[in-house]
Amino acid sequence: MREKNQLPELFGSLVFNEETMKDRLSSASYGAWKRCVTDGSPLDLSTANEIAEAMKQWAVEKGATHFTHWFQPMTGITAEKHDSFIAPTGGGRIIMEFSGKELIRGEPDASSFPSGGLRATFEARGYTAWDPTAFAFIKEESLCIPTIFCSYSGEALDKKTPLLRSMDEVSRQAVRILRLFGDTETKRVTAQVGPEQEYFLIDKALYEKREDLRMTGRTLFGAKPPRGQELEDHYFGAIRPRVAAYMKDLDEALWKVGVYSKTKHNEVAPSQHEMAPIYTDANTACDHNQLTMELMKKVADRHGLVCLLHEKPFAGVNGSGKHDNWSLGTDTGKNLFKPGSTPSQNAQFLLFLAAFIKGVDEYQDFLRATVAFPGNDHRLGAQEAPPAVLSIFLGEELTGVVESIIHGTEFQSSGKRTLQIGVDAMPAIRQDNTDRNRTSPMAFTGNKFEFRMLGSSQSISGPNIALNTIMAEELQQFADELESAADFQADLQKLIRRVLTEHQRIIFNGNGYDEAWLEEAKRRGLYNLTSTADALPVYTAPKNVELFVKHGIYTKEEMEARAEIHVENYATVLSIEAKTMADMIRRQILPAVSAFAGDLCQRASNKDALGIVSQYERETAGKIAGLADSLLTACEKMEEDLAVIPGSSHEAMRYCHDTLIPDMAEARGAADQLESLTAADRWPFPTYSDLLFSV
Ligand code: ADP
Ligand code: MG
Repeated sequence: MREKNQLPELFGSLVFNEETMKDRLSSASYGAWKRCVTDGSPLDLSTANEIAEAMKQWAVEKGATHFTHWFQPMTGITAEKHDSFIAPTGGGRIIMEFSGKELIRGEPDASSFPSGGLRATFEARGYTAWDPTAFAFIKEESLCIPTIFCSYSGEALDKKTPLLRSMDEVSRQAVRILRLFGDTETKRVTAQVGPEQEYFLIDKALYEKREDLRMTGRTLFGAKPPRGQELEDHYFGAIRPRVAAYMKDLDEALWKVGVYSKTKHNEVAPSQHEMAPIYTDANTACDHNQLTMELMKKVADRHGLVCLLHEKPFAGVNGSGKHDNWSLGTDTGKNLFKPGSTPSQNAQFLLFLAAFIKGVDEYQDFLRATVAFPGNDHRLGAQEAPPAVLSIFLGEELTGVVESIIHGTEFQSSGKRTLQIGVDAMPAIRQDNTDRNRTSPMAFTGNKFEFRMLGSSQSISGPNIALNTIMAEELQQFADELESAADFQADLQKLIRRVLTEHQRIIFNGNGYDEAWLEEAKRRGLYNLTSTADALPVYTAPKNVELFVKHGIYTKEEMEARAEIHVENYATVLSIEAKTMADMIRRQILPAVSAFAGDLCQRASNKDALGIVSQYERETAGKIAGLADSLLTACEKMEEDLAVIPGSSHEAMRYCHDTLIPDMAEARGAADQLESLTAADRWPFPTYSDLLFSV
C-alpha cells in the first residue's frame, strides 16, 4: 500500500506547473506569464529570461541535464531534439545555462519531418515556439518544453498550432452566443477533452519472435485460437498480477508528469486494457495523450511486456480505439452541454446542441476523414467499433425533446412531466447518462459528446480541431442571425426548430451494427465512407477547405499538405505490410511447413516399410503440399503487384486498397490453414493463443 498523502506530492512532481511558477518567479514575471496565457499578451525577453532561469534551476534540482523543445509533427507522434544545459566557462569548467531565447524559440532541422510539400527543399528550416499554455515537464532527465512547430514562412507543420487556433476560434464564437443569453462574465470558452485509451499488453519475448508485430505493429498471420473473447470474462475482470504491476507503474509515471490518469480496467478482448484520464482542456489533453502513449510503451518494456497501440493487432479479436469525450466549458465553470434546470438555461443548451447536430451533419465526411488511416480501417464497420457512417446518439430523453420541438408537440418526459415547448418554458431536461449505446460513433453521454471512431494509435488533435472548428462555424452562423434578431426569444425558438428539422437525419438511436441501419443511412443520404481510400479524398473537398480557411485554422496549402501526408502514408503502410508478409512466407512459413511435410513423408515411408498404416502422415503431408503451393502462388502475385505500385500518391492509395489488400487476404488464408495443420513445435512463430493468453 502507498503511504498516506504520498500521492498528492507525487502528482505533477515533474511538471513546472502554475504552483511552481508562483513559487519560483517574481510576482511581476508570474503575472506576465498569467496574462500571456489568459489574454494572449506577448512575453518580453526579460520575463522569458527569468522564466527560463527558474525552469532550469528547477529542472537541474530534479536531475535534468538537457532540455528539448517537444513538438508534434505531422507524423502523429512527438519529436524532440535534446540540448544539454552546459556552457563552458573557461579552465575546462562548465555552468548550466538556459536562456529565454532558447526557451521561446528553437530551430530543429526540419527536413526529415513530413511537410506534405509545404516546405521548399531550399528551406529545410523549421521553427519551434514555446506554447506557454502548456506546462514544461521532465522526462528522462530532459526538461521538455511543449512547442508549436512551423516552417520558415509560418505554415503550421504540426498538430498543435491548428489545435490552438481552433480552440481560440470556438471560444470567440461561443462567447458571442453567451452574450446573447445575458452572460456578461464569461471571457473564454474552453474545448474540454477526456480521451479513453485502449491497448494490448503482450509478452516481450513472444513479441520479439514475430516479425509482423515488430515491423507493422499487428499480426499479419494467425489462425483463430480455440478461445477468443467468447467467454467475456475478461471485460472488467480481475486484473492479473503482472498487468496490475504494470498499471501501477504506469499510473505513477503518468502522475509524475501531471497526467490525470483515473480509471483502468480490462477491456473486451483477452490481454486488452483501457486507461482513462480526467478530462482537461483540449491542448493539454492532446499533449497528455501523446505522453500516455509513449509512457505506456516505455513502462511495458520495463516489465518485459510490449504495449500494442495498433487498432487491430489480432484479426478476429476486438481492436483498440480511443473515445474522445468532448465538451465546451466556460471560465466561470459551466459546461455548455449540460442540460440546465431552468427554461432559459435549456434554451441555451438546446442552441449549442442544435449547433453540434448541424455541424456534424454538414461535416460528417470531414469528421470521418479525420479518423481515416489503414489501422482504423480494420475496426470501423467491423461489428466491434462504430460503423463508418457518422450519426449522433442522443438517448431517449433528449430525442423526445428534439422531436417535440420539431413537431411542435408537447414533450412527454419519461417522468410524469408534460411541458409545452417554448423558449419561455423549455422543459427541464433530465440528465441522462445511463442510456448507453456502444454502437454509436458520436454519443451524447449526459454532458459531453463521445466521438468513438478514433483509432487507438492516432493523435487526438485532428478530430478535436475538426470538432472545435465545426462548432465555431455553426455558432458563428447562429450568432450572426440572432444578434440582429428583432425578437430574440421568438427567433431563437424558430432557429432551433428549423435547424433540428433540417438536420434530424444525423440522429440515430438504434443499433449501429445492424445491416438495416446501413440501408436506412443510405436512404437518409448519409455518407458511408468504408475505407481510408474512400474517406481521405473528401478531406480537401471545397466545402471543407472553405470551412478551415474561413476560420483561420488551416490555409488551403496546409490542408492539402495534411491530406497528402495521409494519402502517402497509406501506400507506405500497406507496402510495408505486404513486404513483411512476403518475407515471413518465404523465409519462415514455407521452409517450416516444407520441412514438416518432409518429415511426415519420411515417417510415412518408414511405416510403409513396416506395413503400418500412415493415414495421418499421408493426408497431412498432401494437404500441406497443396496449401504451400497456394501460398507460394499468392505470395508471388503479391510480390508482382508490389512491384508496380503507381507513382501518384492518390493512385497508389486506391491501388493498394483494391489490389494489395485482397492479395494479402489470399496469402493469409492459406498460411492460417497451414498453421492449423502444422505440429505446434514446428510452427515458426508464436500463435494467437500464445500471444493472447500468456500475460
Ligand atoms: P465512460 O464513458 O467509460 O462511462 P466517463 O463517462 O466517466 O466514462 O468518462 C469518460 C471520459 O470522459 C473521462 O476521461 C472523463 O474525464 C471524460 N469526461 C467527463 N466529463 C467530461 C466533459 N464534460 N467533457 C469532456 N470530457 C469529459
Ligand atoms: Mg466511454
